[in-house]
Amino acid sequence: CKVIVIGNQKGGVGKTTTTSNLGIGLAKKGKKVLLIDADAQGSLTASLGFQEPDKLDVSLATVMANIINEEDMEPDYGILKHDEGVDLMPGNIELSGLEVSLVNVMSRELVMRSYIEQVKERYDYILIDCMPSLGMLTINALAAADSVIVPVQAHYLPLKGMTQLMKTIGKVQRQLNPNLKIDGVLLTLADMRTKLARTTEDSLRENYGKYIRIFKTVIPVAIAAAERSAAGQSIYEYDKNGTVAKAYAEFTREVIQCGEKQRNKHESSLSR
Ligand code: ADP
Ligand code: MG
Repeated sequence: CKVIVIGNQKGGVGKTTTTSNLGIGLAKKGKKVLLIDADAQGSLTASLGFQEPDKLDVSLATVMANIINEEDMEPDYGILKHDEGVDLMPGNIELSGLEVSLVNVMSRELVMRSYIEQVKERYDYILIDCMPSLGMLTINALAAADSVIVPVQAHYLPLKGMTQLMKTIGKVQRQLNPNLKIDGVLLTLADMRTKLARTTEDSLRENYGKYIRIFKTVIPVAIAAAERSAAGQSIYEYDKNGTVAKAYAEFTREVIQCGEKQRNKHESSLSR
């Protein structure tokens, strides 16, 4: 099982959209997928058709509280099923309260990791949609993950924000999770008709490409991508011949390839 955080402390960069469309893309390729909504706004949960996340009895906050209190749970406790073949651990407003109460908990950075350990063996991929902050829940997600994918708006050179995120990832690597990797940066919301998007893409590939993978796929901006969340469907159902569906399908292939490369590397280093 590979655990991937979809993270960027900037809001509106396409984290939630990427989590659901990558997750459902992987499920369409026959992978078993769990999506975790680690944002108190519950937008991943709502966009998958569970319209009122705050009314759910069980959410990520509940299972994390159970871990803290050492209460036993069935492995599928609180997990919802989406028609398009993914499982969802929903998130809602209770995560804000939980984040505050984590401060006084023993091993407070490792609560989500303990939860994921309990469900991991049932899945090929677990994707965690993070909130736009580098607070305790995001740290929990990074501590539980094998890798991070960073969605970035294509028309905006994200120098400052990226540095902060990289610092946090470095700190988590040193103190909590030495195996954490950065899978790469995904350019989203690209309006390819504009020169700005193209020059930003070029300069990002030129300046960062040697340090960090910039995924080849660029997700274009299209109104269907915004509408699909109100419909509770993935882009593959909502607008299956559109540019965004094609892009996310392509991106899904890149993510699978990237995982296979990492696995081969790991295996060859073990056999040496
Ligand atoms: P984040 O989770 O980083 O805040 P979202 O995935 O919620 O970002 O995306 C921000 C907004 O942009 C949402 O309203 C979403 O529906 C919309 N959006 C995301 N991707 C696209 C796209 N490719 N084209 C058009 N709108 C998009
Ligand atoms: Mg979001």
